[in-house]
Amino acid sequence: MFTDKVRINVRGGDGGAGCMSFRREAHVPKGGPDGGDGGHGGNVVVQADASVSSLIDYRFKHHFKAERGTHGRGSRMHGATGQDLVLKVPMGTVVREYFEETKESGELIADLTHDGESVVVASGGMGGRGNIHFVTSTRRAPAFAELGEPAEERWIELEMKLMADAALVGMPSAGKSSLIARISAARPKVGAYPFTTLVPNLGVATSGDYSFVVADVPGLIEGAHEGRGLGHEFLRHIERTALIVHIVDLTGDWEGRDPLNDYRVINDELALYADELATRPRIVVANKIDVPGTEEVCKKLAELVKADSIAAAGGNEFAPSPIDPKLYVISAVTGKGVDQLKAAIATKVHELREEARRQLETEVVFDHVWEHRRLERDRRFTVAKLSDGIFRVSGAQVERMVVQCDWENEEAIAFLQHRFKRLGVDQALERAGARDGDEIRIVERAFEFESSTTHEDEFRELEI
Ligand code: GDP
Ligand code: MG
Repeated sequence: MFTDKVRINVRGGDGGAGCMSFRREAHVPKGGPDGGDGGHGGNVVVQADASVSSLIDYRFKHHFKAERGTHGRGSRMHGATGQDLVLKVPMGTVVREYFEETKESGELIADLTHDGESVVVASGGMGGRGNIHFVTSTRRAPAFAELGEPAEERWIELEMKLMADAALVGMPSAGKSSLIARISAARPKVGAYPFTTLVPNLGVATSGDYSFVVADVPGLIEGAHEGRGLGHEFLRHIERTALIVHIVDLTGDWEGRDPLNDYRVINDELALYADELATRPRIVVANKIDVPGTEEVCKKLAELVKADSIAAAGGNEFAPSPIDPKLYVISAVTGKGVDQLKAAIATKVHELREEARRQLETEVVFDHVWEHRRLERDRRFTVAKLSDGIFRVSGAQVERMVVQCDWENEEAIAFLQHRFKRLGVDQALERAGARDGDEIRIVERAFEFESSTTHEDEFRELEI
């Protein structure tokens, strides 16, 4: 079975805790603070790699975790940063958010099309700061440090889409595998019966200065767009292929099909699957010209292709059309016409690549957009009134601050309250009707609401 969609759980490394420590030297009775910072946790990164050809590595293992940062120590010794965990995926892998509870795919995180392209899918937690950071003019000996930040964790969906420059489509037994074997080093199975090809075969073909990747996409059958048979799976593969090479069997093969009808059926399938596929650059090939008695139908097909090409150009014979008006007549068995076809595909693919490159330069970079949205979402918080005098504050960043706070330490708590004020949590609570003495719950903690905090002066110099 060909795996091309997996869901995995990724978790960055937690940040190490900051250290609370004071300098100790024989001749210095009470040294200053010298607690180092905790190390940052590693990120989980998904990276496209040309040497990876499938998502098989993620089929049986679903949980991936980056290394955590180590804790800070005295004498200003910082903890070590955790290693990133790099998950290699094939080029052409689409990364999306995934919600395990609802089994739904979420927002697009990245579309990794180039070798080496990567995206952070779960950030490691920041290391907590050591007590050296919390010195102010009024507080010379801060007796607290931050805990490490817990890492991000989420489910993501990886979907591999076949990356080929040209996809061979056509009825079963049209000669797709034979052609790919002839023009590339790939040796797909060639069979005298339909459905011999169950997974797409990739081959690299070279013509002159150009080479291209050609995919032998298994037979499209009538009704494929409705998900019948394997068609739907495979149509998905050609969704992103630049050029479609439609192969028509001039003999109608063993079922005695009509080649002209075959041609129509495939065109309809492509059109029904996605409007955009119908306008994808296309080359039509007539195969098996070596078989006697195929000339007549070949001529008719050539006329049909010419007419379709003009129709696709809006009825204007001289306007550019997505369909090449020329019918390429070949024999995959004898090799007749194959070099000309190969050259035509190579030229077209080269053109399309140049076009894509120009487009790419103006395209938005996905991970930045996603990162920005994520941060925005992260900062958001909500206040809910649970009952009289009890409120709950929820939100990723606010909750993280609570988790990072050392609750054994009064100073640390005072600092947290200062941060909340800066974020506007106090204000939001007041707007929601909170009064002094009310209970405020955040994550697993509860504390008392104080509308005017007395800690402002003390922490004014500290940056959040
Ligand atoms: P696919 O299903 O489209 O991949 O078709 P295959 O490449 O497996 O070919 C199906 C059958 O057609 C095989 O028996 C091939 O030998 C035969 N075939 C393919 N190309 C030609 C051709 O140009 N001439 C003739 N006579 N037979 C061909
Ligand atoms: Mg085949």
